[in-house]
Amino acid sequence: MKDRFHTRLWRHAVNMTLAADSTHELIVVEGVRECPGCGLFQRLPRLAPGRVAACERCGRVLARRRRTSPIAAPAAFCIASAALYISLLVSTLMMLDVQGRENTVSLFSGPIELMRQGYGEVGLLVGWVTVVTPGLIIAMMSAILFGASRKHMPDWTPRLLRWYEMTREWSMIEVYILGVFVAYSKLVDLAHVDLLSGVYLVTALMFTMAATDSTLDEHRIWRTRDIREEVADEGGQSYSVTTINIARDPMPPVGHMLSCSACHLVMAFDHELPRETSNGHCPRCGHTLRCRKPFSQSNTLSFLIAALVFYVPANMFPVMTYSKVGQGEPSTIVHGAIELWQAGLIPLSLLVIFASIIVPVAKIFSLSLMIETTWFRSTRWLVPLTRIYRVVDIVGRWSMIDVFMISILVAVVRFGFMANVRADFGCVCFAAVVILTIFAAHTFDPRTMWDAAGLNGPVRGRQFNKTRQNGGAGALESKENMEPERA
Ligand SMILES: [Zn+2]
Ligand SMILES: [Zn+2]
Repeated sequence: MKDRFHTRLWRHAVNMTLAADSTHELIVVEGVRECPGCGLFQRLPRLAPGRVAACERCGRVLARRRRTSPIAAPAAFCIASAALYISLLVSTLMMLDVQGRENTVSLFSGPIELMRQGYGEVGLLVGWVTVVTPGLIIAMMSAILFGASRKHMPDWTPRLLRWYEMTREWSMIEVYILGVFVAYSKLVDLAHVDLLSGVYLVTALMFTMAATDSTLDEHRIWRTRDIREEVADEGGQSYSVTTINIARDPMPPVGHMLSCSACHLVMAFDHELPRETSNGHCPRCGHTLRCRKPFSQSNTLSFLIAALVFYVPANMFPVMTYSKVGQGEPSTIVHGAIELWQAGLIPLSLLVIFASIIVPVAKIFSLSLMIETTWFRSTRWLVPLTRIYRVVDIVGRWSMIDVFMISILVAVVRFGFMANVRADFGCVCFAAVVILTIFAAHTFDPRTMWDAAGLNGPVRGRQFNKTRQNGGAGALESKENMEPERA
């Protein structure tokens, strides 16, 4: 009897606890998108194919609907990329002829020669961004499109899409092509150089990879993914997931809302959210939910200081030494650009000056200005700074031109006493500057500038943000016609 009483008491206690737990609610807010540039939550109208929705405050693209077929078009370009990539692995890029002796260079020769000369870290970096990553992202995209084409999309497809987006920018095929052309222009006066099939394959690969990205409609893939009905955070607290649509329901308080940085699903919790710590996992993609990138300013500042430390030796020390008939001539980054100018290759020289000298300095300066703006809670220049951040994030990788050029020159100019190119310590420092500034841009969260200025208040929503077509003014959508988060 006593036992039965205790069992009943225990069950009651468990039910009470479960009931208390299930009162916690996670609300998926449909028809809203958070701007990744300025952090403003805004209504997202249902977009017609070919239309783009831009942030009403900073102009950042929030969503884009492609005109092309969502699976067939990227699949066609992806198959073409795979074929080009495989052909590229077995082809040569250029051939150099010095007094009857010939030397060829392929995609692998640069990294291998850099490692042989004792600059393994630069060799590995060049190999990673020109050989490994392009192959990896073509394979990932093929798997994503295969998964997305099936009636029931497997769980790994959206997970892979998240990985794809993180890896994509480390494929630097388009920058490598410019490195090839700068190397070619340096060699063409000295010896007989032939561009071989590899160069045409790299150029074609650049276009097919860009076309795959520009025809892929990520939102279509996310939308077909089920949203889980219950999730738990790190503390073991479970949340039941419900959905509201902003066309019908009132907007939750902005301090309770966040957006998943991987799949852009907007959610509202039943409490005020901490800005940088984890709030559990996304019910759609499983990504860790944070309002802002953690330790954004201190991380960016550390990377910037490290980049500054390397910047001085990167420009003072020679990046390579070109020796002819035993006579060596070390060359710094600036010296290389001047040589191109003197050879009459002014556009190429300007490109090297821009990519290798101006871009790293501009990145360090503008990111420092953004951190300062956040610290002083300034409201000045927030829109231009947010736009500059976007440019800085995109153009950073173009500084790799010089590193690629060196990797090609060391691999092809190997004629011993007659003509030889050696990499020098400066190129390690320069590669470090490029990578550190890329990390600095990545760790910075431009939304913190707007937060600090106190401008991320309640959701704007009397009207919908403008949609535009090919840059022109678009129509305002009807109020009932919001972008759904489920297919
Ligand atoms: Zn914005
Ligand atoms: Zn997500």
